[in-house]
Amino acid sequence: MYKELTGKVAVITGGSKGIGTAIAKRFGEEKMSVVINYHTDRVGAEKAVAEIVKAGGKAVAVQADISSEEDADSLVNTAVKSFGGLDVWVNNAGMENSHPTKDLSLEDWNRVIGVNLTGVFLGTKAALNYFTEHGKKGNIINMSSVHERIPWPNFAHYAASKGGVKLFTETVAMEYAPQNIRVNAIGPGAINTPINAKKFSDPEQLKTTTGMVPMQRIGEPSEVADAAAFLVSDQASYITGVTLFVDGGMTLYPSFQGGRG
Ligand code: NAD
Repeated sequence: MYKELTGKVAVITGGSKGIGTAIAKRFGEEKMSVVINYHTDRVGAEKAVAEIVKAGGKAVAVQADISSEEDADSLVNTAVKSFGGLDVWVNNAGMENSHPTKDLSLEDWNRVIGVNLTGVFLGTKAALNYFTEHGKKGNIINMSSVHERIPWPNFAHYAASKGGVKLFTETVAMEYAPQNIRVNAIGPGAINTPINAKKFSDPEQLKTTTGMVPMQRIGEPSEVADAAAFLVSDQASYITGVTLFVDGGMTLYPSFQGGRG
């Protein structure tokens, strides 16, 4: 628990399942008030709200497409109307699909870049406008990936979006550091969420993935949520512009394990 987080207001994009829901619940445990944005899964978002409220926290669910500027701005208004302000913004929404690059349609490229990179820009812009207008020392977290560093064949659009998130995070962190607005990224590795459900239900694919993780297991969404709580807490008060990898060591060149190479 981070006592200073009590009463802070957070917006989490794409919070109806997976990592977003885990962060919403973790923030609820911190006694923060949470705006849970969903795109299509209203039931998932309302379930997360109900769990937070049942545990004594405050939360609301709001529909918005984070790749639309108008929708991103509407989330700020919801935070202000529902909870009286805004302190923390988590750009979590993301999507992926697999195509050899020569067959990748412009439509798929635009959709993935639109949510994963443009959505991060629009969410960040909306939050920065509120923070600067109200003199707030706000916090922004961008959900990146190990694929901001590791190339991923057949996912060129996804890897490009996360590579973009890395330098976007560093640039905005530098730009707003003088106002004490901290901007960081989290780089999850292989996490047990709906995006990976099909892959991890196949024992062979699960074995292949865990073989790429020095800690030899996949991660839980709650482990990413713990990193998010830390980054927005005062325990991270001098940290800005970093990507905190939550990946069991996946970015450590695991093929060299045991002195190979
Ligand atoms: P998920 O599919 O479970 O959740 C993604 C969420 O984003 C969903 O709630 C979805 O509705 C939402 N979303 C998609 N398009 C949206 C839009 N236009 N507007 C608003 N919301 C939208 O995936 P997850 O695994 O929880 O992923 C969360 C984030 O973590 C993503 O950015 C993803 O790229 C990143 N990530 C996940 C992993 C992993 O292993 N699960 C690894 C690295 C990075």
